[in-house]
Amino acid sequence: MSSARSRILLSVPASWDVARLHGALASHPDADLVTLPDAAAVLKDLQAQGADVVIMGWPIPDMDPARFFSALSALPRRPELLTLDAPDAPAPPPDAGIHASLTRLPGVEKPLVRLVESLLEAGRLRSRLEQSERQYTDLLQNTRDAIYILGPTRFTLVNRAFEELLGYSGEEICHPSFDYQRLIAPESRPMILERARLAARGEPLPPRYEFLALNKAGQRLDVSVSVSYIVYSGDPSSLGVLQDITARKQYEKALLRRNRELAVLNDLAATVSRAPDLTTVLEMAVERLIAVMGFNAAGISLKENGRDVVRAHLFRGIKAEQAAAIQEIPLGLGLLGAAAKTGDVQVVRDLSTDPRVAVKEVHKWGFKAAVCVPIQAKDRVLGSAIGLCVDERDFAPEEVSLLLSIGHQLGTAVERAALYDRQEAAMRRLLALDEVARALASTLDRQEVFRVAATQVQHVLNADTVEISLLRTDPEGARQLEVVLQRRRGGAWEEPGTLTGEGEGLRWRALSAGKPVVLEAHDASAESELGALGVRCVAAAPLLLDGKAIGALMVGFASDIGRGEAALEFLGPVSAHLALAIKNARMFSSMEDAYRELKEAKDQLVLQEKLSALGEMSAGVAHDFNNVLGAILGRTQLLKTFLPDPTHLRSLEVIERAALDGAATVRRIQEFSRVGGSGDFQAVDLSQVVNQAVEMTQARWQVRARAEGVEIRVNTALTEVPSVMGNAQELREVLTNLIHNACDAMPQGGAITVATGVEGGRPFVSVQDTGTGMPPEVKARVFDPFFTTKGVKGTGLGLSVSYGIVQRHHGEFEVVTELGQGTTFIIRLPSSAAAETLQPSVPPVVATAASATGARVLVVEDEESIRDILADMLRTAEHHVVTAHDGPSGLQQLDELMAGAGVDVVFTDLGMPGMSGWEVASAVHQRYPGLPVGLITGWGASLDVDKMKSHGVDLVIPKPFRFEQLTSVVAEAMELSRQRGRKPQPP
Ligand code: ADP
Ligand code: MG
Repeated sequence: MSSARSRILLSVPASWDVARLHGALASHPDADLVTLPDAAAVLKDLQAQGADVVIMGWPIPDMDPARFFSALSALPRRPELLTLDAPDAPAPPPDAGIHASLTRLPGVEKPLVRLVESLLEAGRLRSRLEQSERQYTDLLQNTRDAIYILGPTRFTLVNRAFEELLGYSGEEICHPSFDYQRLIAPESRPMILERARLAARGEPLPPRYEFLALNKAGQRLDVSVSVSYIVYSGDPSSLGVLQDITARKQYEKALLRRNRELAVLNDLAATVSRAPDLTTVLEMAVERLIAVMGFNAAGISLKENGRDVVRAHLFRGIKAEQAAAIQEIPLGLGLLGAAAKTGDVQVVRDLSTDPRVAVKEVHKWGFKAAVCVPIQAKDRVLGSAIGLCVDERDFAPEEVSLLLSIGHQLGTAVERAALYDRQEAAMRRLLALDEVARALASTLDRQEVFRVAATQVQHVLNADTVEISLLRTDPEGARQLEVVLQRRRGGAWEEPGTLTGEGEGLRWRALSAGKPVVLEAHDASAESELGALGVRCVAAAPLLLDGKAIGALMVGFASDIGRGEAALEFLGPVSAHLALAIKNARMFSSMEDAYRELKEAKDQLVLQEKLSALGEMSAGVAHDFNNVLGAILGRTQLLKTFLPDPTHLRSLEVIERAALDGAATVRRIQEFSRVGGSGDFQAVDLSQVVNQAVEMTQARWQVRARAEGVEIRVNTALTEVPSVMGNAQELREVLTNLIHNACDAMPQGGAITVATGVEGGRPFVSVQDTGTGMPPEVKARVFDPFFTTKGVKGTGLGLSVSYGIVQRHHGEFEVVTELGQGTTFIIRLPSSAAAETLQPSVPPVVATAASATGARVLVVEDEESIRDILADMLRTAEHHVVTAHDGPSGLQQLDELMAGAGVDVVFTDLGMPGMSGWEVASAVHQRYPGLPVGLITGWGASLDVDKMKSHGVDLVIPKPFRFEQLTSVVAEAMELSRQRGRKPQPP
């Protein structure tokens, strides 16, 4: 306080007891009393120093009272005025601003002092009040908070901060016509009104609230208000303290956004790190971009391996045909391409005009703004992500940096997922490969191998087409690829056999590359061929076996380009498996062929074995039977020479005929057991043989068939055939047998075709019928001796005998037949040129000389009856006969005879136990060269001429013998010895 002490001015007429007054007033502890002589001095003092109380005598003697009062009023600080009135003086005017008037009477001092004291006290109070009012106003005006007092109808007070905050002057605001709602943004008005409504109802309200204020310029401000309810100037009012919280709000918003960004990144990191594969990572990323960044559409394109393009992997919010337009974009071009190339963010406010936009139609899709950020893993850019907005949009730096962070985040995830995908794919391929390998191992059939491999490959790669082609060489020696198997998705297997010449087209590319290759629709050179195949991408792998190409495996994809890469990694190993499987199948099939050939050869051998066993058996039987017949015939013939009675002679002739017939039968049995003998072979014209056989069988196929009411036609298809070495009669017999069998097989009639021809340089003759054909079990046994399906009507010897004959001709028999399909018998024979080496060098010796007598004959024969009949017959013919029952004794006799009378000829039986006829003949020849030896045998012409010669056999005596034959053989022997010019001598 500047004036701690108060001042009291006193100016009263001297007539007054001033001292007493002075004494009373001067004792005041807080006030100084100044006594002044007149009004002028008072005014002067007041103007100079001011005072709190002025005590004036009334009337004022020296000055016009009006002047004094107005001078007093004009003072900046008007003191309180007291008058001490003369008792008889008129009262001072009431409007003179006199606080109180006291009459100058004795004793007035006391009330005066009390009055002065109370005035001084009031003055002090007032000044304190004024000071605190000043302080209050200072506070009100200088505080940063905007403060207002709102009465029932209008603002009663606002401070400077309030004026500044809202842009209105206090006068404007406090004017009764000012509507306080102008200070509230529309969006906050309902809330404020609601508060007012509640306040009016006297309901408790939170003292603090926030709302959006509107300043005079129309801008929105975030403010918070603290309200207290007061009575101001007598009215119920609200006192509000307003704070501008826009900055705080902004800060809060920034904080929130930052939080949200962190949450987004966190969320993205969490989701993408959980994502099992690349597609899911991308799906989640794009979803988050749309949700968090408020895009209308978003998508991700990734760089294509080894190619300068970015390819759309996942887009949301755009149509399929729109996605197709951004499917592939060259690196560096457009927003996606640029971000992926440079790693820079591309922000576009207006897609319709921005020159960076490559896909110009994007704004026609309804998008206005876009932002494109690179997807990066460390410092490698993997691709780009784009966000598209329908509305105009600014991208704040924080947003851009968030997007960049997302790009990094995504990059890491993409790399990880791609790695995972690759691992997965590799794993899948391995499993699939294993499956292919196992499936391939399950079959050795070539066609099956192809199908298994193709099925698996198509399945694993989800290919739309698959095909396998094999390399082959055409007759001119040019290499070609033949499509051996092909299938489209959902279609049937095809074996189109399409051929492509060396170097032509996709398949050959793989072959010339020597490794799997991929061709896609963007490869202009492949375009037309891809079109022809109806696919957009193919992958082809060569089938390599021991480093050599044997074919190609090719898969095609109709829609999704870029699939070839994955296919490549799979096709390589699969084709290796396939090539190996093909090799195995080939090996297996050639093994099968070899096995079949082996089996056929074995069957042939078995058949030959069977035949020769049977031959040996029948030879034995025939031999014994021949001996029996020989005895009968010999005796009969001998008897014929002794018996003159013609009746007896006729009986003997009957016996003789029966014996001869029996002999003929025995020869027939011997027929098929003849092996190797070809002494009677000559060049034979097959066509002639065929014609003869057809003619000879006419009775069967024409006459009898007609009689049975059916018709059998016989056609011949004869071509110029080189002659064969053989026995025409035997070959005729073979054909006759075949034609007879054919007739038997056609009970309803039909046609027989007999053909000749040359195949592989070998002549053949075939007999084909339209008959019943044979089931496999019959076909397998037709050549077995005695096998017949004709019951008692058949002998089962026709084909076995024929087989023997064909064997003897060094030929081959083949049967082609199927039940109900007729039968063809084919006989292949060596041509005469080829058969030359088989020709015998010495013609057979045939006994034809005239009769003679007196020969000395040694007969070696184990069978007693034959020995006797032979001896008897020779003796009847007047020869000298010595007999021996086996080889050794015969040789001993010979030596003895030679030492004496000598021997002209030795007859020895062929089949004897111990020493055979051959051995006997050899021994004789060795001891007495030139001594004729005759072999007694039932084998007739089947004796090998070479063998006869080497054993020194000169003559053959066929069993059973006839008398005349025997005598002529002896004569022949005699002639031989004569020719040899000397009588055989002992050594
Ligand atoms: P056979 O004629 O006496 O039965 P084969 O040795 O000639 O004896 O024939 C043996 C069997 O072979 C016949 O019973 C018959 O079952 C079968 N066969 C031979 N040729 C034919 C043919 N052309 N068609 C059908 N079956 C045949
Ligand atoms: Mg027959």
